[in-house]
Amino acid sequence: MIAVMQPSATAEEVEHVVEVLRLHNLKAQISQGEERTVIGVIGTGFPDDLLETLEVLPGVDRVTRITRPYKLASRDFRPANTVVEAGGQRIGGTEFVVMAGPCSVESREQLVRTARGVAGSGASFLRGGAFKPRTSPYAFQGLGIDGLNLLEEGRRLTGLPIITEVMEPAQVERVAETADVLQIGARNMQNFPLLKEIGRSPKPCMLKRGLSATIEEWLMAAEYIMHHGNPNVVLCERGIRTFETATRNTLDLSAIPLVKRLSHLPVIADPSHGTGHRYLVQPMALAAAAAGADGLIVEVHPEPDSALSDGPQSLTLEGFDQLMQTLERVLAAIGRPLAMPHARLRAASV
Ligand code: PEP
Ligand code: MN
Repeated sequence: MIAVMQPSATAEEVEHVVEVLRLHNLKAQISQGEERTVIGVIGTGFPDDLLETLEVLPGVDRVTRITRPYKLASRDFRPANTVVEAGGQRIGGTEFVVMAGPCSVESREQLVRTARGVAGSGASFLRGGAFKPRTSPYAFQGLGIDGLNLLEEGRRLTGLPIITEVMEPAQVERVAETADVLQIGARNMQNFPLLKEIGRSPKPCMLKRGLSATIEEWLMAAEYIMHHGNPNVVLCERGIRTFETATRNTLDLSAIPLVKRLSHLPVIADPSHGTGHRYLVQPMALAAAAAGADGLIVEVHPEPDSALSDGPQSLTLEGFDQLMQTLERVLAAIGRPLAMPHARLRAASV
């Protein structure tokens, strides 16, 4: 249930609604919009006449039941878009962000070359996995802490903030020391202990859609993080498993405008995992931008053919540069500027 206050409601009237909820053993989650305050009612066992009770309180405009199971993540609760601030960047604002880098951090040379290359082409974040969730226990598992240190070096050299995956609750604090954004991988979308731990962290996070997750399950996973105290959640559509085997996954482009309708959280598209093929990355990246995504996460490798993970879907540095040039034209057509052009200037001077 949410109570929407009148534009003229005073702080005392808002506090009074909160107090009434407290008397019913319910919690209030306050969302301060530009014009109005919206109070979300959190708890179980609402009295039957709660709606009527709240509706007549001074300053209350209307009270509505939220029938969806997610509340904090819902646009009913927060009509305005959430803008997540991370590493000096804004995700979900007018500016379009591009996160780029290797699937896995492999070596200093590989990471530094990639970081400089993607910064020079206009990326706004450096991505790279240090802790890797691999299907096979025999596959490269990532450099771990050494990988985090290399990412820090990449940030120092280019000024790009870092996004990297964290797989276990016990690692959250350590990874958060380095990362500007914590990535929750598709395989961990419903790792509830991990979601709760990230919920207790103030660090922004990006929640990838699970391999076979419905949109509701995905938003419920976001709700877990927000319910535990972290409102800085970015969603990432990275393709889902369907009957189709010609692509690695089916990038669900319709999920982008749909989730933006259901939720106020920013949505990023991952055309690399979403397709699995380098030649499909650019067309899907452009389509995702046109469909209203707030940004992209793209795998880039200086020598994809020798990559230790996800080489076939990784763009070369030249391929990424070409994508960025075309992307700017699509963004111009939909009236969205690319984030942080100064990264380019910075990269040019290193
Ligand atoms: C990745 O970003 O490299 C990754 C493992 O992605 P996902 O969790 O979407 O498979
Ligand atoms: Mn990958």
